[in-house]
Amino acid sequence: MFRFAPSPNGYLHRGHAYSALLNQRAAAASGGRLLLRIEDIDVTRARAEFETAIYEDLGWLGLTWEEPVMRQSERFDAYRQALAELDRLGLLYPSFMSRKEIAAATADSDWPRDPDGAPLYPGTEREWSKARRQAETASGRPYALRLDMKRALDGSPALSWQEVDPFGHEASVVQAADPAAWGDVVLARKALPASYHLSVVVDDAFQGVTDIVRGLDLQPSTSVHRVLQALLDLPEPCYFHHRLILDETGAKLAKSRGSETIRARRDAGESPGELIAGLGLRPQN
Ligand code: GLU
Repeated sequence: MFRFAPSPNGYLHRGHAYSALLNQRAAAASGGRLLLRIEDIDVTRARAEFETAIYEDLGWLGLTWEEPVMRQSERFDAYRQALAELDRLGLLYPSFMSRKEIAAATADSDWPRDPDGAPLYPGTEREWSKARRQAETASGRPYALRLDMKRALDGSPALSWQEVDPFGHEASVVQAADPAAWGDVVLARKALPASYHLSVVVDDAFQGVTDIVRGLDLQPSTSVHRVLQALLDLPEPCYFHHRLILDETGAKLAKSRGSETIRARRDAGESPGELIAGLGLRPQN
């Protein structure tokens, strides 16, 4: 079971097209199925108009997927249950420090950064007593829930994943996970009942996804996903992190940088076949 899981917070670019097409082709080559999942947990950024555009753009590219399409905004109960389980294991704690406060507290030295480039959370609130945690959360100030990563990894065997090229061009390898590089990741915030890491792991398991094909930019996140899968007793999918599509300056495409969208290409008169060929993919049929 494969899936393509875009976030409706902007129009899709050619990198999304590449990822979606690889998923489609890998599913077809293995006789598997393809799901589309709308990753709209961040309701402040998700917009209906972008969701509609996802269906249109993928349809224009010739993709088909199974209905009904699952939306993460309908899955908050499942994420809450997963959080409750991690809490039962004693692995969550409330954290009130804002990103700004973390940056200020870690600014003076060569403080380590996580794979996304953010300074690692210094762990201050992890050491609070139970009584202090209770008092601070009762104050009504908003807080995030963080995973106590050290505790989560304590006594567990070293984690890894299978990196498997679904087209067989590259040999499969066992990749060692490095979750400690992320420190105590945030798994939920007041305005966001589940982080990307938590929701993606819960939903991949729920939907029976066995093969995850996504960009190399998400490869570091797989380390966190493997920890959560182990803690929540979820099956281990295999992964293929594909090359990224770059723009003419060699930078990776990103919605946040306003990279050229699939629909801009379409509006400029490009055909789906031309766009697909421009991604270095062979036409099919
Ligand atoms: N929703 C994520 C994104 O649009 C992708 C999630 C995934 O493939 O794991 O970047």
